[in-house]
Amino acid sequence: MLSDDYKQKIKRTLGCVFPISRSRRGACNNCGCCCALPKKCPFLKKNGDKTYCSIYKIRPLNCRKYPRVKSEHLTAADCGYYFEAKD
Ligand code: SF4
Ligand code: SF4
Repeated sequence: MLSDDYKQKIKRTLGCVFPISRSRRGACNNCGCCCALPKKCPFLKKNGDKTYCSIYKIRPLNCRKYPRVKSEHLTAADCGYYFEAKD
């Protein structure tokens, strides 16, 4: 049986074919938190106190679009993106 974390990951992966919310603002601050949803990605590497993706140029669409909508923004406390309105 899949945990809720993995169900949410599947939902985000399927939903990433849809556009990013127009109410999204901000920019990625390389905190790396979304690369640990729900488990740390093996391609996530550290450079000092920042993180980076070692396959950045070919990273999956799901990674490219995170956080796509407010309801999927699970890392809001650390993330450099925010949403002005509810989707
Ligand atoms: S592929 Fe890159 S961007 Fe995607 S979760 Fe892994 S480290 Fe993060
Ligand atoms: S949680 Fe937000 S700021 Fe942190 S790496 Fe992901 S997109 Fe970038």
